[in-house]
Amino acid sequence: MSPITPVPAAAARPVPAGPAMPETRPVESVQSAPGGAPSRSRTMRALVKHHAGPGLRLDAARPVPVPGPRDVLIRVRLAGICGTDRHIWEWDQWAASRIPVGIVTGHEFVGVVEEVGSAVRRVTPGQRVSAEGHITAWNDYNSRTGNAHIARDTMILGVDRDGCFAEYVVVPEENVWPLHPGIPDHVAAVLDPLGNAVHTVMAAGVSARSVLITGTGIIGLMAVTVARAAGAAQVLATDLDPRRRALALELGADEVFDPAGPGWIEQVRARTRGDGADVLLEMSGSSAAIDQGFSALRMGGTAALLGIPSRPITFDLNNHVIFKGATVLGINGRRMFETWYQMESLLLSGRLRLDPIVTHRVAMSDFARGFELMISGEGIKVVMEVS
Ligand code: ZN
Repeated sequence: MSPITPVPAAAARPVPAGPAMPETRPVESVQSAPGGAPSRSRTMRALVKHHAGPGLRLDAARPVPVPGPRDVLIRVRLAGICGTDRHIWEWDQWAASRIPVGIVTGHEFVGVVEEVGSAVRRVTPGQRVSAEGHITAWNDYNSRTGNAHIARDTMILGVDRDGCFAEYVVVPEENVWPLHPGIPDHVAAVLDPLGNAVHTVMAAGVSARSVLITGTGIIGLMAVTVARAAGAAQVLATDLDPRRRALALELGADEVFDPAGPGWIEQVRARTRGDGADVLLEMSGSSAAIDQGFSALRMGGTAALLGIPSRPITFDLNNHVIFKGATVLGINGRRMFETWYQMESLLLSGRLRLDPIVTHRVAMSDFARGFELMISGEGIKVVMEVS
């Protein structure tokens, strides 16, 4: 999620009780990488939410998780720090109500498969992989009808079960995404938020259309380059931060606006035959931005909403949706796994520009500085070198 997004996408949804940690299975049920030691007796370094308050602690002797028969144990190389991790770091109201103390945090990563469970067929030790962090049992209505990204029983890596700010992480085989060799590690580490951007852009349909992006945090910036790559006729963006507006221009936006300034909605209309933008991608969660974005959307336009307001908002449903004949799409997570295939195709096309967004790399032992860089706004996307 974006750092300007106050609450992560799945946060508002109550999660049914279920096993929060990977099952424990005998060591004999796993195949190890050549030279790999059995995982049971080993320990690892991990960033743990050690108490019900701010910060994280680096635990130098956390037991390495043991994969169940259908699980994969991955040695993490790089992990991205996300807006969700910031909430957990700062221990805000959402985090206090959702995060179990003692959990290993983090959900965006790239790594190498270390061991696989006895029933795993598609993934083998030594493969370079990332993973979808939304885990479902594939039993509910949405999972069984092609919409697993909004499954009722979703468990999130690093939120509901141990995550990837650790030398090793366990995920079910279904969630593992083998990486094309043409996708470098620093990009593979941020496929989770890139997937949010791709899902939003593709759901709205931007080809040959004018697109307005309100909010250019990490995902909004990614949406600029994705919309460009997906054939948008023009890409317009707003953000309060001049540095982020400049970065949006660098990534291919045609024009950027300070939403606190006067007259920008008229400028959007002037660029769109007087109609307004065909497509609104709302990435900020700010009620003012949502109101302004819908004002700048043309009659009959499409709005895709990813940004999450921190509390219920007042919204002019009559003028913004009903009389406007607008189509409104709620966006949560990434489609499993249509979005992942789209991401791979876009990345391999060479049309995405992500290097300016991944601004910092820090060692995991230097995690406090990584969080500071992100929270201060000095960094955009910060990735940690885990192992
Ligand atoms: Zn994330």
